[in-house]
Amino acid sequence: MNKRKLILVVAGHSDDADYACGGTLVKFAQEGADIFLVVVTRGEKGTLDPDMDVKEFAKTRKEEQDNSARILGIKGIVYLGYSDHDVLPTHEFRARLIDEIRRYKPDIVMTHDPWKLYECHPDHRHTGMMAIEAASFAMYSAEPPPAVPPLEPHLVAEIWLFNTDDPNHWVDITDTIDEKLDALRQHKSQLGEEMANFAQRTNAKIGAAHGVKFAEEYRILKRGFPYLYE
Ligand SMILES: [Zn+2]
Repeated sequence: MNKRKLILVVAGHSDDADYACGGTLVKFAQEGADIFLVVVTRGEKGTLDPDMDVKEFAKTRKEEQDNSARILGIKGIVYLGYSDHDVLPTHEFRARLIDEIRRYKPDIVMTHDPWKLYECHPDHRHTGMMAIEAASFAMYSAEPPPAVPPLEPHLVAEIWLFNTDDPNHWVDITDTIDEKLDALRQHKSQLGEEMANFAQRTNAKIGAAHGVKFAEEYRILKRGFPYLYE
């Protein structure tokens, strides 16, 4: 019997993964994959309300992500707790991601495409770049991780970049769009209903380009020996 596929999603904020790859995650879950999510920031600045208490708001965002993850079939979430809007491409951050990759041993790491043209948000750019580097370096035992004792090196076969300008793969999410939209509606603090409507239009447009009702697109990067022997 084939080993169950393990997917690790690395996202800057609560709701990023739901919006960018929610339909694909539900599909993976239905096919028997184990899915885990790393949310990098607390998302505490994602409000236009000047009276909002940021600590309280961070709690709300976590609750919303917990609720939506249940709908998407995500089995566990790691909240790294970095400050919203302030993610930097540091060795410390990369090492933390290497640790999570070695802990979960994913076949696929999914994250933001840091090369997306005009991507203004540093949390998206830097999360994407550090997740790609972490997925590429987790196999090298000399790469220093902060975990004590260090975790075993792990080879990630594929990195799937979402929210990309340059896709080389698409997934038909016609059968899972309902769960995706439902998941997005859980993010009430981020105007979940509007986000769901927007996602529906975007995924319909991508779907139309491929002759299906709804789709999501990715740039897949292959890594390590499976790629060399292909
Ligand atoms: Zn975001």
